[in-house]
Amino acid sequence: MRLLVIEDDPLIARSLDQALTPLGNIVEVFTHHAQAREALQSGHFDLVLLDLGLPDGNGLTLLAELRQRGDTTPVLILTARDGIDDRVEGLDLGADDYLAKPFSLAELEARVRALLRRSQQRVDNRLAFGALTFDATSGVATLYEQVLDLPRRELLLLEGLMLHAGSITPREALENRLFGYGDVGPNALEVYISRLRKRLEGSGLRIRTFRGLGYRLEEVSS
Ligand code: CA
Repeated sequence: MRLLVIEDDPLIARSLDQALTPLGNIVEVFTHHAQAREALQSGHFDLVLLDLGLPDGNGLTLLAELRQRGDTTPVLILTARDGIDDRVEGLDLGADDYLAKPFSLAELEARVRALLRRSQQRVDNRLAFGALTFDATSGVATLYEQVLDLPRRELLLLEGLMLHAGSITPREALENRLFGYGDVGPNALEVYISRLRKRLEGSGLRIRTFRGLGYRLEEVSS
């Protein structure tokens, strides 16, 4: 998953990054309103963690702008313990959930998983397709019940394809997922696709290229 953290407190931002990155996520951190607004306008994120008290503005205006554009990306707001007004306003503006600071990382992780499940209309944290599984709780992928020891970007690619298994995942969405915010070379994604293809040889699954569109994880017989 590609997660956007908007948080100006470096300790909190780092702990969010350290908790969520090992679970197979790409975490991008922005500390200021202005940068975060730009990232929200240009990127596809699976979830936004939004601190409300930012040095150059209130996070609630970012949330309001996002929803005004019709963007339904799940947003978890991070509020002060006594910030009841902020929570109410945030939820009214379209936040999906909130966490009051200080929070435990276990609670944070559980809420992140719940929001991602809801947005993907899944009932658990596990994706499965053919002989492949991916567990978002542990970040572990398996093929025929054997753990696939994948480098992080291959794992992100696999998850991205599995989220849309059987249909085409747009190239741009995969590039964003693997390389984050910014320019990537034209062949960068292809390198990871070909590595993952090798691992899937003989598995009954393949990654098919749709020129100009994207890639589809599909069963070989189809
Ligand atoms: Ca803050």
